[in-house]
Amino acid sequence: MSSPDCRYSFEFFPTKTEAGHEKLLNTARRLAEYKPDFFSCTYGAGGSTRDRTLNTVLQLDRDVQVPTAPHLSCVGDSKAELRQLLTTYKDNGIRRIVALRGDLPSGMGLASGELRYANELVEFIRAETGDHFHIEIAAYPEMHPQARNFEDDLTNFVRKAQAGADSAITQYFFNADSYFYFVERVQKLGVEIDIVPGIMPITNYTSLARFSDACGAEIPRWVRKQLEAYGDDVASIQAFGEQVVSQMCETLLAGGAPGLHFYTLNQADPSLAIWNNLKLPR
Ligand code: FAD
Repeated sequence: MSSPDCRYSFEFFPTKTEAGHEKLLNTARRLAEYKPDFFSCTYGAGGSTRDRTLNTVLQLDRDVQVPTAPHLSCVGDSKAELRQLLTTYKDNGIRRIVALRGDLPSGMGLASGELRYANELVEFIRAETGDHFHIEIAAYPEMHPQARNFEDDLTNFVRKAQAGADSAITQYFFNADSYFYFVERVQKLGVEIDIVPGIMPITNYTSLARFSDACGAEIPRWVRKQLEAYGDDVASIQAFGEQVVSQMCETLLAGGAPGLHFYTLNQADPSLAIWNNLKLPR
C-alpha cells in the first residue's frame, strides 16, 4: 500500500528522429493522465544530447504540462556550458534537476570537464542558482560499478547528498533488500533525504542483461534462469517480468520507500502495467 505522500515519476530519453520524438510525446501524454509528480529526461554525457534534452524537457514541461526535470552531467561539459544550461532552465521555469557525473560514451576520449564528480556538480548548481532547483542525485544500492568497494561508495554518496541534494533516485535493482540495506546504512551516516527506487520494467531479456552488466545491476539467478528459459517467447518474458517487478514494488512501498521512479525507455505500457497492478492513484 503506498502512502499518499509518495511521489511517482517517469524517465525518458531524448530521441534522434522525428518519429521517435512523436512516439515519446504520445507516451508522455498517456503517462500524464496518471498525474505523476514529474517527468525526467536524460542527458548524454559530454553534451551529446544537449539541445535534444533541452528541447524535450521544455516541450514536456510546457505542452504536456507535467513538471519536467532535465538530467545534467558534468563530465565533458565546461562550467560555462553548465552555467548556460542552468540559466536557460531557470529562465523557463524548470524547478528540478537530476545532477550526475555521467559516463562519456566510448570514443569520446578522457573527460574534459572541469567538474569530476557529481558532488562537485551539486555544489556548482547551488553556488550558481541558490535554492532555485530541487536537486536529485543518483544512488546505487548495489554499488556503482567503478567504486573501489561498497563502503567507499557509501561515503561518496553521503558527501554528494550533503553537498546540497534534496532527494535521490536509485539505479534499478531487482532485490528489494539491497535497497533497504543501502537506505539504512546511509541514514545511519546522517543522510535524511528521500531515496526513491528506480524501477526498470522487464521487457527484453537480452538488452536488459547487457545493460545490467554495464551499470552493475544484478539480475537474481532465479529471475535470469527463468527469463533465459523463455527464449524468444516475448509475451512470457513480459508477463513474468511484470509479476516480478510489481511484487518488488509492493515490497518497497510496504517497507517505506517514498515513491517510485520508472525508467520507461519511452514506452508507456510496461510502466502502466506495474502501476495498475499496484493500484497506484490516478
Ligand atoms: P558520482 O556520484 O560522481 O560517482 C561516480 C563514481 O565515483 C562512484 O564510483 C563513486 O563512488 C565515485 N566518487 C564519487 N564522488 C567521488 C569523489 N569526490 N572522489 C572520489 N570518488 C568519487 N548517465 C548519463 O550520462 N546521463 C543521464 O541522464 C543519466 N541519468 C541517470 C539517472 C539515474 C537515476 C541514475 C541512477 C544514473 C544515471 N546515469 C546517467 C548514469 C550515471 O551518470 C553513471 O552511473 C555515472 O557513472 C555515475 O554518475 P553519478 O552521478 O552517480 O557519479
